[in-house]
Amino acid sequence: MSTIEIIDVGKVFTRRNGAQAQRVTALEHLDLKVEHGEFVTLVGPSGCGKSTLLDILAGLSTPDLGQVLVDGERIEGPGLQRSVVFQQYALFPWRTAAANVEVGLESQARGRGGASRAERRARAVEYLGLVGLQGFEDRYPSELSGGMRQRVAIARALAHEPQVLLMDEPFAALDAQTREQLQDLLLQIWARTGTTIIFITHGIEEAVYLGQRVAVMSGRPGTIKEIIDIDLPERSVVDDIRSTARFGEYRHRIWQLLHAPHSPLAAGATSEAPVPAGAAA
Ligand code: ADP
Repeated sequence: MSTIEIIDVGKVFTRRNGAQAQRVTALEHLDLKVEHGEFVTLVGPSGCGKSTLLDILAGLSTPDLGQVLVDGERIEGPGLQRSVVFQQYALFPWRTAAANVEVGLESQARGRGGASRAERRARAVEYLGLVGLQGFEDRYPSELSGGMRQRVAIARALAHEPQVLLMDEPFAALDAQTREQLQDLLLQIWARTGTTIIFITHGIEEAVYLGQRVAVMSGRPGTIKEIIDIDLPERSVVDDIRSTARFGEYRHRIWQLLHAPHSPLAAGATSEAPVPAGAAA
């Protein structure tokens, strides 16, 4: 099980500009509960704190206020149970595709009961197959296209079978056609593995296409403005679901939320405040 509870989370950064320091409230009173096996997308304007939230969920950063619980336990740092896929592929250039996928398995092997070398290779080959890269196991990242590299990153994130997959705009750098292919691939993998997925995007269509629920964030300081249940037929059953009226309604509803006149960004309000002298960290 892996229920994630984000409770009243706040995060403030101090930004230095010469002798001046400014406080930036990135997240404020953010609440969200994600159930085991759910696919939730988070959409929000640039700079609203999406990556900040993902870093907290990954255990790479800690909230200044509130807490994040996984199955009732506070996150104490990064863990193999929560895998992250970033926008940039972050593969080791000196390792082959298979050796990149084995990275998480090697960390696991250092603990008790990890897989042997042969088992790790077999698992890497299996997961590269799952993302459609059979035959590319021994290629280096420089010999792969952007889409293929991101497939390797997904295989690497999944190979040690994490309970939660955290994705930070993983397809943003890809061309439209490759992006759509990988969206479908991700939905197939999710159906097969049952992994809980939290997927961050600033693309409204992507959020609607992938998510069972779309959490819409406000402009900075980021908080959850509204959560929308997406009730659409199986993507594989309906041809070109993106052009259906229902899909368009969801897309428009989210667009309206993101462009609402009272949104902090639209109002020109700021969440940046000078830090009193001597108070900067
Ligand atoms: P998003 O992912 O939604 O584009 P981010 O989470 O990257 O937004 O950033 C939210 C806000 O916090 C932005 O104003 C950003 O400049 C600020 N911020 C993020 N990380 C830091 C940091 N390490 N130091 C100072 N400010 C930061």
